[in-house]
Amino acid sequence: MAYGDLVSRVDFDMKRDSPFSYACHACKRCCRNKAIRVSPYEILRLARYLGLSTRQFIETHTEAGGTVLRSKENGDCGFLGERGCSVHPDRPLVCRIYPLARWVSPDGEESFGHLTPHPKTEGVYGIAGTVQDYLDHQQLATFFDMSKRYGKLYQKMVDMLEKLDPEELDRRSDRRAAIDELPTGTLASMWVDIDATNGLNFSDSDGSGLAIDEAVAAHIRAIEAWLDSLDAAS
Ligand code: SF4
Repeated sequence: MAYGDLVSRVDFDMKRDSPFSYACHACKRCCRNKAIRVSPYEILRLARYLGLSTRQFIETHTEAGGTVLRSKENGDCGFLGERGCSVHPDRPLVCRIYPLARWVSPDGEESFGHLTPHPKTEGVYGIAGTVQDYLDHQQLATFFDMSKRYGKLYQKMVDMLEKLDPEELDRRSDRRAAIDELPTGTLASMWVDIDATNGLNFSDSDGSGLAIDEAVAAHIRAIEAWLDSLDAAS
């Protein structure tokens, strides 16, 4: 099930100081039959964790143009192993925040809600802490910061597309649907491939690449420079 479908059923009625706790008992049910969306930042972290370039990671471990983690034929996430998540230290935002969902309104107001639990989940919900405690425990601050940075960049890209072609807005839902149908290993856009955008040939490097923060900053600068050049030429 797509994460967006899960989120569409959520009541966002919690704030960071709302009572909340969740104890995972590793039943693994939340790692099945889901479309786990990933951003360029999350791809970069996962790629580095596995010692891959972002292109190698996209080709091997994603679908939908490099925007969704690939699943196994039985519906399990491709990273679900016998002992649980095999990429746990660098798992994506939606996996960390589960079973919560977060919403940020256009004016920046943030709220949280419960996703509907799997009917057979062994996870235990409670009120022993707060939403903030849970976010801290899951080390989500950096992921939220990256969502904000890439969200701004994405909006600039959309604005530029609309400037170049005002009818682009009408085509966005068709384009999104087309991305979900792309053959496995195909890139939706070069912008999802941080190493390529940064001109980093991972196989020729020492294998370490740029540090994550440096790579993200260089990636955002490169795309902003490209958008500026389009703006100047339009
Ligand atoms: S990345 Fe890890 S935590 Fe997320 S769905 Fe896959 S196995 Fe589960």
